[in-house]
Amino acid sequence: MASILSHPAVPLALAAALGPSRVPTALAAVGCAASVLPDVDSLGFAAGVPYGHPFGHRGFTHSFFFAAMVALLCVPLARRLGASPLLTFAFVFVSIASHGLLDAMTTGGLGVAFWSPFSNERFFLPWRRILVSPIGVGPFLSGRGLRVLASELLWIWAPCGFVALLGTAVRRIAGSS
Ligand SMILES: [Zn+2]
Repeated sequence: MASILSHPAVPLALAAALGPSRVPTALAAVGCAASVLPDVDSLGFAAGVPYGHPFGHRGFTHSFFFAAMVALLCVPLARRLGASPLLTFAFVFVSIASHGLLDAMTTGGLGVAFWSPFSNERFFLPWRRILVSPIGVGPFLSGRGLRVLASELLWIWAPCGFVALLGTAVRRIAGSS
């Protein structure tokens, strides 16, 4: 995985780029929670589910199907979140799907089962620059953890920051909030 600290960079950047009138704070918060949800499979991993199992790490919960299911479940909350149903679905879907895509750009582990439950084939993207994050807190609080964070600052937070700034600038120029 990319670390749990960095997956929310995608929904945060999208929320900043689209603006609070389209993505209210409540929806942005749901997107941040959704972006780390796929790593709930780490619990199974710790309990002995093999990595390559359909419910193993980077398996079903990292698939586009899972992202769509969770996004659909959030649609009835749209009015309470202050957003349209379509935007709620799209924002939550992208928040979760981006998790698997970022994991597929990391340097280690098995690939991501994007098409689970229809296929358990694991995929990486052709471009893999993000240092893989160790599973668990202990290994993370080491020199390797710092190198992972530096890698994520460069390859996740910097591009996301750019998207946020670009979107904000476009909104200002267009005169929308
Ligand atoms: Zn993951």
